[in-house]
Amino acid sequence: MKYKIFTNPAASKYLSIQATLENCDLPQIEVQLPAWRPGRYELQNFAKNIKSFAAFGENGKNLAVQKITKDRWQIQTAGSKTIEIRYEYFANQADAGGNFVDKNLLYVNPVTCCVYVEGRITETCEVYVSGNEKQEMAGGMKAKFIDGFHHFKTDDFYHLADLPFMLSAKMQHEVYEVNDVPFHIWVAGHCEIPWDAVLEDFRKFTETQIEVFGEFPEPDFHFLLWVLPSAFYHGVEHRNSTMMVLGPDTQPFEEMYIDLLGLASHELFHAWNICKIRPAELMPYDFTKENYFKTCFVAEGITTFYGDWMLYRSGVFDENQYKRELETCYRRHFEIADNAAQSLLDSSFDLWLDGYAQAVPDRKVSVYHKGAIAAQILQFLLEKEGKSLDDVIKLMWLRFGKPFVGYTFQDYKTCCEEIIGYDLTPYFEKCISGTESLWQDVNALLEPRTLQLNKYEDGRVSLEVLT
Ligand SMILES: [Zn+2]
Repeated sequence: MKYKIFTNPAASKYLSIQATLENCDLPQIEVQLPAWRPGRYELQNFAKNIKSFAAFGENGKNLAVQKITKDRWQIQTAGSKTIEIRYEYFANQADAGGNFVDKNLLYVNPVTCCVYVEGRITETCEVYVSGNEKQEMAGGMKAKFIDGFHHFKTDDFYHLADLPFMLSAKMQHEVYEVNDVPFHIWVAGHCEIPWDAVLEDFRKFTETQIEVFGEFPEPDFHFLLWVLPSAFYHGVEHRNSTMMVLGPDTQPFEEMYIDLLGLASHELFHAWNICKIRPAELMPYDFTKENYFKTCFVAEGITTFYGDWMLYRSGVFDENQYKRELETCYRRHFEIADNAAQSLLDSSFDLWLDGYAQAVPDRKVSVYHKGAIAAQILQFLLEKEGKSLDDVIKLMWLRFGKPFVGYTFQDYKTCCEEIIGYDLTPYFEKCISGTESLWQDVNALLEPRTLQLNKYEDGRVSLEVLT
């Protein structure tokens, strides 16, 4: 499929998209717009952003189009070998998973606005974005400017789905290298950045993460940061990039910087954990409907735990800052969800139902926060045997991530048990499939570190130094 994206930000917030299918030999085709995007496991029904949809055959003749689901269209090809689909897509969603256009920036998440043809999702894609030579394209692609278009190719639609980009003539861009892998940082929006210090910190946590796994999964990586005038905190992981949105741009950089480090370290860890070490149920993605899986406590919980732990272990966060991050995680779980009816497995499965919205009281747990606490408890058990969660996640990388074969819940449990050397059923029954409070377990692991969790009458939880 070839996509051409045109914009006219002075007149409209709509992207004009032309998707061209060649070598068509069927009397009818079905065209799908994804209903969800990787990184957020809920239906978002992106087709609601499409204003008009039409298809044309050779010589520009209009083809019959019938909508057959909320985001799927059936086109009668009338013998045309080449089909051109045209639609208008509203691009005014300023977050890490949306699309946006104004005079300074075009920001696109192809998975949300590019259609694919059923049966041809594994074919290469080509993208042409109208623009000018002064603009740079920030993202994991290798783009070239040719005849008025920024152009790039992808292996298939899954690859395109993982390639968000920012196109602008006003971006900051720096690069650092670790193990000969270039790591790019692109910044759109207003932000004065002390680059020397930032590059040093990013290099440190990148080195520490690569040491855990022994290698980086991709030939390059791109941190895309968009700083907004309004308060914002959102990041989304991709194969060789991450999109991060922070704000407000009026705050001093140091205030935003802790958020940026936390987000960047978390998203980089995803380059291994979920982009490559991926639940079997998500292989391949089915963009038409829910892809239920029960192991988001591995994908997000372990990543949340490691995001801050890597910053601490690399010396970017000092002990006090790491303690503050741990306290935030404990508060988000123990103040809100300590009595929840669901286990981590249940809440992972139900991400598609209410995972990203406020749930009814005492119903769900966060796969991020309770997942991180479960990971920390496992690390505590592993340490007692002279092992580390590093050994488990590295085994997961070698066994499932590097060969890119999905893992199941049982695979994860087996890896944990192989490393620790005993049956971990009691841990899994309590922390992962159980609903019992983990308050005592957390305090047991904090005590040797002379720390303690306390809960006050007003429900507030705090992490305090034992005296
Ligand atoms: Zn995450």
